[in-house]
Amino acid sequence: MHPSSPQFSGRLARDDFSHLLIALKQAGYQILGPVVRDGAITWGEIAKVDDLPIGWHDHQQPGQYRLEQKGTQRFFDVVHGPESLKRETFVLREPLLTIERRNKSFSVQPVLPQSTPTAMLGVRACDLAALTIQDRIFLHDQFSDPYYKTRRESLFLIAVNCTRALETCFCASMDTGPKAKSGFDLVLTEDDEDFILEAGSPAGDEIFQKLPLAPVSDARLKQDNNRIEACAASQTRKIDASRLPEILYEAYDHSRWDEVANRCLACTNCTMVCPTCFCHAVEEQPELTQQKSEHTRVWDSCFTPDHGYIHGKNFRPTIKDRYRMWLTHKLGTWVDQFGMSGCVGCGRCITWCPVGIDLTEEIHILCNQPDRAKNK
Ligand code: SF4
Ligand code: SF4
Repeated sequence: MHPSSPQFSGRLARDDFSHLLIALKQAGYQILGPVVRDGAITWGEIAKVDDLPIGWHDHQQPGQYRLEQKGTQRFFDVVHGPESLKRETFVLREPLLTIERRNKSFSVQPVLPQSTPTAMLGVRACDLAALTIQDRIFLHDQFSDPYYKTRRESLFLIAVNCTRALETCFCASMDTGPKAKSGFDLVLTEDDEDFILEAGSPAGDEIFQKLPLAPVSDARLKQDNNRIEACAASQTRKIDASRLPEILYEAYDHSRWDEVANRCLACTNCTMVCPTCFCHAVEEQPELTQQKSEHTRVWDSCFTPDHGYIHGKNFRPTIKDRYRMWLTHKLGTWVDQFGMSGCVGCGRCITWCPVGIDLTEEIHILCNQPDRAKNK
């Protein structure tokens, strides 16, 4: 440990990384981390070090995702896949309650999830920021969501500071990364030979104390910070938030919305991969006997035709309406609603959009380019 650092730091040799997995297992956590599956990175069980994506790199561009094996010893050189922490806290399908007939009445039973203490290994700064946003949505005030809360409280978060950025990343301009500043239990920075670890919570410190750590020099901490700053500086995409949200409201009638609507397929990919999107629907699944029914929450998207259908009228009938609603909410009305932006700059919506629509480009044009159609 190094007492002069703001949080105590320790150096873990690459060959000793298994001690971290052992300490987590002994503390009762199942461990999920990045694994290669079906040509992409997803969360999977990490039973041993070899389960990690050793030597893999991800390349991401608008509408493109590719993994490449570089043959290095690095464990965390992939930045992220399509999944964020969202799938662990606000799950794709969540049974909420069952309703059962009882004579001429009925009874309602909540179905709370079983929580399994889970260590999420390899969480990025942007995903920690997204979790803070989801906490604001699901846990704020007196009406906290018990399903989200149960799952959220079971998480132990091990962040990894990013030292390489993807072409689609713009967390630096959203002030959400690439350094994980808070919200983690442990954070690590990887170099060729080793990892520098810091604890960010009492639970993290308990694990930290069990590891065979060597002291860290100030020079090494500075070197790691320089690498993280270089990662931020390498990001070519950005959003200038200084004039948001007002400038977006002023662009409500901009002809660019028609142009983007001509390309958008309303496939919902951007909302599915977005770590902050929380639209959902509730499905009723009655048993054939008509005696019992299950009420289930499922992810939905503001890009579906049904999502805007209320009381016999669809108030967002066109793709233009839906894309405008999504972008204006994400970067505009979200600020009015929750006091924070709804975008953390992870870039997933850019990568996983099949036609490569890039919200940083859309915002730049909407906010900076005069509307040619209006001036004709
Ligand atoms: S809007 Fe796009 S870049 Fe922003 S948080 Fe969602 S997926 Fe990431
Ligand atoms: S991913 Fe792209 S094409 Fe699909 S709904 Fe989003 S913006 Fe439209």
